[in-house]
Amino acid sequence: MSKNATKSDNEAPQVLAAKDVKKEKEYDFFKVVQGYLDKAADVLALEPFVRTILSQPKNELIINFPVKMDSGEVRLFKGYRVQHNNLLGPFKGGMRYHPSVTLDDVKALASMMTWKSALMRLPYGGGKGGIKFDPKAVSSGELQRITRRFTHALGENIGPDYDIPAPDVGTNSQTMAWMMDTYANMVGSSAKQSVKGVVTGKPVASGGTLGRTKATAQGLVYCVIEWAKENNFELEGKTMTVQGFGNVGSYTALILAKLGVSTVAVGDHTGYLYNPEGFNAHKLQEHVAKNGSIQGYPGGKPITREEFFKTKSDIFAPCALENQIGEEEARVLDCKLIAEGANGPTTPEGEKILLDKGIVILPDVLANSGGVTVSYYEWVQNKRSESWTEEEVDAKLEKAMKRAYKEVADFARSKKTDLRVAAYALALSRIESVYKEREIFP
Ligand code: NAD
Repeated sequence: MSKNATKSDNEAPQVLAAKDVKKEKEYDFFKVVQGYLDKAADVLALEPFVRTILSQPKNELIINFPVKMDSGEVRLFKGYRVQHNNLLGPFKGGMRYHPSVTLDDVKALASMMTWKSALMRLPYGGGKGGIKFDPKAVSSGELQRITRRFTHALGENIGPDYDIPAPDVGTNSQTMAWMMDTYANMVGSSAKQSVKGVVTGKPVASGGTLGRTKATAQGLVYCVIEWAKENNFELEGKTMTVQGFGNVGSYTALILAKLGVSTVAVGDHTGYLYNPEGFNAHKLQEHVAKNGSIQGYPGGKPITREEFFKTKSDIFAPCALENQIGEEEARVLDCKLIAEGANGPTTPEGEKILLDKGIVILPDVLANSGGVTVSYYEWVQNKRSESWTEEEVDAKLEKAMKRAYKEVADFARSKKTDLRVAAYALALSRIESVYKEREIFP
């Protein structure tokens, strides 16, 4: 725990039985991501000055802010915004509300946004933020006050052409509506209409885009389809296991179900369920929307985390948090493909075992980049005062994901490297070429 820990830092609820919680070994997420950067930089023989600049974020902001709770008590919350790089465009990345949020994790996630934006050829850099608390443990009114107070405290550190937040773990379109409204009220009446693009992932009526809610999962599925085509892998009739049944996990299960892939095991922060007949993803999603978790869903048999990872399936979609597939999990995983909906779910040690076993990993930086891609479509619509149809959004996303998958797969083949290093290297090479053209000020 940090020296500056507040009361809120200590309030992470223990929902899972100890056996079902991933053992918290020392895990330095930022160091892990930097390790991938170094590997990719070596493959590219990246200009040393570019590696130096990208090795740390440009700005790291920590804000302790007070909020009056329903009880009248004043609690102090710790919020973060890390702005990794804005060479290619405004900082861009989600806001995470979770008890485990730390500065180092946010730094890792912010840098990954830089690679994702560059890989997807978006005019964005990378950023990430969050607040260290459990959003499920506060009332809706408290959640709104926490969000508004944090947005106010961020002030000019965010903006539609400077730094653009979006949803991530523990936040959603409602959170974005509150952030946008707070920001709009800070800029004065004449600018109100022009700042809708300060956040993406808004509700459609408030300036969001159709297709954004499912975008990350949709992009993941487009990637899986491309891999399946390339490998003569018939998706119809295959099975899947999904860890995390929030935004990304639930839509992944739902969209793949339409292609004939049945989800046989699921898990979230409350536990794991097994159903060899396949879950009804739609009903399970409704259950989660109503109850906040998969707990109590009648259509599955409770299993342990260990049993979940041992469940045989064709595709495993980790869609929860980082550091979930370590050595132990990698050894028992029995699948052909891992499609990383989550950011950083596989540890380097786990990855080595998986690759040695011949399991293909569609890496986060590529596989879950559909979210930021459709966020970009939302931002463009806001700038142009346009509303695109869901078909238009999906068609553009499909094209973008197909191209990115092909580029990454081709690069991996030509350089005899894995898909993760290939994705990082492609992103880095795009950033490097701009640094070489523009050089360093002054
Ligand atoms: P979410 O809050 O909607 O869902 C998170 C899910 O993870 C929930 O089902 C939760 O119960 C589960 N979870 C939390 N702690 C867990 C634990 N210890 N064990 C098992 N499950 C646990 O969040 P989301 O938006 O779906 O994000 C999930 C992942 O996808 C994150 O890594 C996020 O960074 C990544 N991602 C999200 C987006 C997006 O557009 N939302 C885009 C790109 C990447």
